[in-house]
Amino acid sequence: MPMLELLFLLLPIAMAYGWFMGRNSVKQNDQTAKDDLSNKYSTGLNYLLSNQQDKAIDYLLEALKLEDDSVEAHFAMANLFRRRGELDRALKVHEYLVRQKNLPTKDKEQAAFELGKDFLSAGLYDRAESMFVKLLKNKSYSLKSLSYLMQIYQSTKDWHQGIKLKKAIVKTRDKKALHTLANFYCELATLALEKDQFIEVIELLENALQLDPNSCRSNWLLAQIYENHQQYNEACLCYQDIYLQDKDFFPDVIEKMHKCYHELDAEDEFYQFIRKVYDETGSTTALIKYLSYLESTYSNSKAKEFILSALKRKPTIRGFKHLVKMQMSSTESQNQTENLDVIKELLSAYLNVKHRYSCRTCGFNSSTHYWSCPSCHDWEQLKPVRGLEGE
Ligand SMILES: [Zn+2]
Repeated sequence: MPMLELLFLLLPIAMAYGWFMGRNSVKQNDQTAKDDLSNKYSTGLNYLLSNQQDKAIDYLLEALKLEDDSVEAHFAMANLFRRRGELDRALKVHEYLVRQKNLPTKDKEQAAFELGKDFLSAGLYDRAESMFVKLLKNKSYSLKSLSYLMQIYQSTKDWHQGIKLKKAIVKTRDKKALHTLANFYCELATLALEKDQFIEVIELLENALQLDPNSCRSNWLLAQIYENHQQYNEACLCYQDIYLQDKDFFPDVIEKMHKCYHELDAEDEFYQFIRKVYDETGSTTALIKYLSYLESTYSNSKAKEFILSALKRKPTIRGFKHLVKMQMSSTESQNQTENLDVIKELLSAYLNVKHRYSCRTCGFNSSTHYWSCPSCHDWEQLKPVRGLEGE
């Protein structure tokens, strides 16, 4: 164990020792207690130095008799263990605190809460769950316990269990908790969608949108079920809502949205909408879509004029690749086509090694889209990358 960590470990006992000595200095003849603590302190230190850390902890616990001032030292010591990944040791200290009969309620609750966190970190979900459930009615811990319980049910994919907490979550009015719960409904809706259970899907998603009106995942799923049942008008409205909810995510639905407008024979209306999206967000996917409209309705040169001014305003690799492609189709010289093809292939290869999505919470990059970030587990935070190499 490096020296610095050793010092940290000894800090709580040194503090308690100092306090103990200070308190006892008034009672000069309380020599026995003083000797006792001093003994335990040096025995603990000896264990630490000879690398017998578990024995050292037992001694530290024994030496730090639970007086008001030393409870904080226990928590500090346990937190230190947990940060170092030594969960069994953190557990030992927190369990010791929970067992103490005459500990003030406030400290006991904190110990129970910390114990729940230890169990969770150790992957002991059942035991963590029972600790957090006990704390649900406690004002200081209810929101935190709810959020840990939802974390547990997310890990175990126990969506129904999470939904049972709806009443408590709604009561907190906490945006993040409501957003998480809405995604639990979306998970169930995804399962119902696979079985094409129209009414169930709609009901589940109505619940989700009620909890979190900004849940673009709900509208995304609603659009799928409407589309499956040829209700293209409803699907288009859902896609429009996604644009209002989350402009960053929207480029990913443009293709699906186009298909629905196409079914309704309302292409002009679609391109009007896409033009608005491009003007407001500068999205490259929207730009490329709009260019296809200019090419087919007007002319190649009109489309080329548009893309050149667009790229001058906001250059992106994907936009540039599209320009090369347009140039290729309008040139008649064999030689020039081959040259342009080399550039296009190079740009494709470059874009292929770039990730399409990045998590807005933790920065995790991925080529595949996930509704829950594989790294930080936040919901609906993986969105198309922005900037030169993205949208
Ligand atoms: Zn993340």
